[in-house]
Formats: sequence, structure tokens, C-alpha cells
Amino acid sequence: MRTNAVTTETIFSKIIRKELPSDMLYQDELVTAFRDINPALPTHILIVPNEPIPSCNDVQPAHEAAMGRMHTVARKLAEEAGITDGGYRLIINCGEHGRQEVPHLHMHLLGGEDVGPMLIRKQSV
Ligand code: AMP
Repeated sequence: MRTNAVTTETIFSKIIRKELPSDMLYQDELVTAFRDINPALPTHILIVPNEPIPSCNDVQPAHEAAMGRMHTVARKLAEEAGITDGGYRLIINCGEHGRQEVPHLHMHLLGGEDVGPMLIRKQSV
């Protein structure tokens, strides 16, 4: 799914603007972080650029500051969650094959227990 930077408003934009409730953990001028509403692990946080970039396919050089900030905020939130030593996984899904559901680029911070294998290998591969 190539979105060609169609900046469709999503539920995440409303969360960023605090028009919808969320369990928000962090916000600055570039990114916002809040708990996933349907957590897959004890720690499941979404870190999103404030700008509604639809997916990784739409990332431009002008977004490098926000993309970098997502990583430093992930590290800070992992420390606050106490999962730094145990380890964690950062995931960004992209498009249809990546099973991206919300077309506003976001990083999942997952941890608090073993996250399991990276991918379930398909039988045909
Ligand atoms: P993805 O499949 O990478 O697009 O992930 C979308 C994630 O957004 C899922 O893990 C959902 O549980 C999560 N999600 C959807 N709506 C909300 C919401 N209102 N607040 C927090 N997380 C949400």
C-alpha cells in the first residue's frame, strides 16, 4: 500500500490533539506516546510523530528529526517501564503486507516479558 502522502486524518491525530482520551505518557513538539488500547504484552506503547505521516513509505528527509525522536523517546519510556535490562522490541508496520491498521506511522514499544520469535515463518518459505 503506497499512500503517496495522502494525510488522512486518523484517530491518532485526535489523540495527539487531546480531542480523544488516551493513556498518554509523553508529548513534545515532534512526537506523542500513549498506551496501546489493546496491549499485546505488559508494556505496549505507541510512539507516533505529531505530523500525520501515513506510513514508512511517506517518510521524507524533513521527517528525520521526528523519526530520531521516536527512538530516543522509546529508550526513555523503556527505562521508565523498567524493561531496559530485560529487553524489548520496537516494531513499525507498513502497509498491507506489514499489517498496518492505522494509517498514521507509529512505532510499537513491546516488552515486559519475552516477546517471542520475530516472525512466524510461513510453511511455504
Ligand atoms: P498497527 O497494526 O501497527 O497499525 O497498530 C495499530 C495499533 O493501534 C493496534 O495495536 C491497536 O490496538 C492500536 N489502537 C487503535 N486505536 C487505538 C486507540 N484509540 N488508542 C490506543 N491504541 C489504539
